[in-house]
Amino acid sequence: MAENRCRRCLLRELEAGQELYASVKAYREALSPDQRTPDGAFEARLETCRACPYLNNATCMQCGCFVEIRAARRDIQCPMGRWQEP
Ligand code: SF4
Repeated sequence: MAENRCRRCLLRELEAGQELYASVKAYREALSPDQRTPDGAFEARLETCRACPYLNNATCMQCGCFVEIRAARRDIQCPMGRWQEP
């Protein structure tokens, strides 16, 4: 059986992450516009995570969060200060 882990992957790219990613999308959509990281900034945050050595199987190894959840709220920052303010 193939190993379903990927160091550089986000939840949305993992076959096993699809159900959880649907919850992340619902969570993002439920945030008010002033709480939600704007789409462009959200994608920029995730691209930074994809290039980060602390990303492992959609999880930040510095904080233990799924990065798509951590990136969803504009007032939550990268624990290593790698994201730009939206
Ligand atoms: S340290 Fe920051 S950039 Fe790296 S995976 Fe964690 S949240 Fe993403």
